[in-house]
Amino acid sequence: MPTEGWSHHEPPVSLSPRNSGLVSRSDSRSGERGPVAASEPPGVLMATITLENVRHTYVAPPRGPEDWALKGIDLVWSDGGAYALLGPSGCGKTTLLNIISGLVRPTEGRVLFDDVDLTDVPTDQRHIAQVFQFPVVYDTMTVYANLAFPLRNRGVPPAEIERTVRDIASMLDLETELDRRAARLTADAKQKISLGRGLVRSDVNVIMFDEPLTVIDPHVKWQLRSKLRELHQRTRRTMIYVTHDQTEALTFADKVVVMHEGRVVQVGSPVELFERPRHTFVGHFIGSPGMNVLPCRLQNGAAHIGAERVEIENPPGRPPDGQRLVIGVRPEFVTLAQEGLPVSIVRVSDAGRYRIVEARLGESRIKLLAEDGVSIPAGGAFVRFNPAHTRLYADDRLVE
Ligand code: ADP
Ligand code: MG
Repeated sequence: MPTEGWSHHEPPVSLSPRNSGLVSRSDSRSGERGPVAASEPPGVLMATITLENVRHTYVAPPRGPEDWALKGIDLVWSDGGAYALLGPSGCGKTTLLNIISGLVRPTEGRVLFDDVDLTDVPTDQRHIAQVFQFPVVYDTMTVYANLAFPLRNRGVPPAEIERTVRDIASMLDLETELDRRAARLTADAKQKISLGRGLVRSDVNVIMFDEPLTVIDPHVKWQLRSKLRELHQRTRRTMIYVTHDQTEALTFADKVVVMHEGRVVQVGSPVELFERPRHTFVGHFIGSPGMNVLPCRLQNGAAHIGAERVEIENPPGRPPDGQRLVIGVRPEFVTLAQEGLPVSIVRVSDAGRYRIVEARLGESRIKLLAEDGVSIPAGGAFVRFNPAHTRLYADDRLVE
């Protein structure tokens, strides 16, 4: 039988609602938050999830920083939030999810649901649904039985199971497949079942999706992601959506948690991440093309690239000491001008609504976007940066 991140069984010892903080405000089933697909108003199962100084290593004993998959995470996930956890492969996203769900015990630090320390509480007592990157289905069962499984396990009345399963199936376009054996289905359909099983339960604090659309056909991807988004808006259940794809993250989430090499480098709305990256990685990873990162130096408190002074939005209160200094400016905020920083144009490529101009600025390369109608000189030119969007970073962190 495949393993799942959510419980197959009722917990042997149920945490009492009063002291667990898992089921608050009401003890009655009818008071719980409805299944995601049902249209009941939000109920009461809820928790703020806090990760307190969480570090994790798979290596014993760890020799250096590179052996830590998570290097010190402090994060609060508010109840009802739509979060994306965004970062490149290997940055620690799955490890973080597994620590929240209890599949992995952190080497150091604590996991709290509301004020209750659950660090050592098993997965099946955390009331979490986790959907994995690859489908987890019971091949010998029908689609209906697969979807009903988490509910039957919890003794949900048959009529309610029927209603919930049909509701979820219709949302995922699986209605016509309900009587088929899961083994016969395509990878797409199997992953929809996995998603469905994450969505049917009413007794969860949070639904976590770990790159759930990896195996899904590109044109269905967009549709499923919009459905998850819509479901979140309807139910206000906490969702954490893991992805390495910035478009997925930015379209799904209200708040994006950006990870890089085992650390959280910024938590912000899509607009904040675009407008004010707090780490050069965020600037570079989000946006297309990403933020320009240009080595600079300070002279009498002013930033300079080569001999040219550059006005910045965040002049440092006191000079950063021995740190690597760069200026970050997005291509959207660089323009060709009659005077300014001297560049030589290397390449121009058409990106539809605008052109991407690549130029050499001293030792660095810089990109800017030129709208239709802007004439682009061949060879030598000047560029200007919009000072409100030009910032100084010391050792990759925004100077604040
Ligand atoms: P992501 O989900 O962002 O791709 P992971 O959390 O899977 O990242 O991995 C983070 C780091 O931990 C990587 O260096 C990975 O190789 C390592 N890692 C993950 N799982 C294990 C494991 N079970 N055993 C050893 N190393 C692991
Ligand atoms: Mg992963």
